[in-house]
Amino acid sequence: MAEYMEFRSRGPMRLLTPHLRLKSIYDLPIPWLKERHVRAILTDLDNTLVPWRDYRVAAELAAWFKTLHSEGFRTVILSNARPSPTIQKMSQELETELVVGARKPIQRFFRQALERVSASPSEACVIGDQVFTDVLGGNLMGCYTVLVDRIGTREFIGTRIMRVFERRVLKNLDRFVVKPGDPE
Ligand SMILES: [Mg+2]
Repeated sequence: MAEYMEFRSRGPMRLLTPHLRLKSIYDLPIPWLKERHVRAILTDLDNTLVPWRDYRVAAELAAWFKTLHSEGFRTVILSNARPSPTIQKMSQELETELVVGARKPIQRFFRQALERVSASPSEACVIGDQVFTDVLGGNLMGCYTVLVDRIGTREFIGTRIMRVFERRVLKNLDRFVVKPGDPE
């Protein structure tokens, strides 16, 4: 079973708390998703699936998408990156839907992505490496949210600034960890 940390928070931190925290997308626990009747995956692109702006498809990544699709999940890449032929080609190779040029956490773009995979918010899981775009946006929408460690250290300057605030949020997450046997 893949390793993950599960959180349940209340109060003002709720919107910034992911349901799960993983090292990487490859730790995504499929049984956990199925128990919650999740059937669509909305995933971030840069530093979640690939290093920042490096849009080559690794065999492992292609296999991950294949597994998700064969398990019955529909997938869509939801990214703030500007539309480009390289990203387009990548999504075709991965046989996944694509929403680029988004401005997460704005809800409109999450709605667009959900439409692409014909899922309601509660049937969808948002995966990403950033609290203030991926996790916040997904939680506002009412989706499950999964925070992964970023793949590389290179990123957009605006993102680097937000990481300062993000570190503060993450430091406080520990007290919301769900332990085995905790009541629902
Ligand atoms: Mg990212």
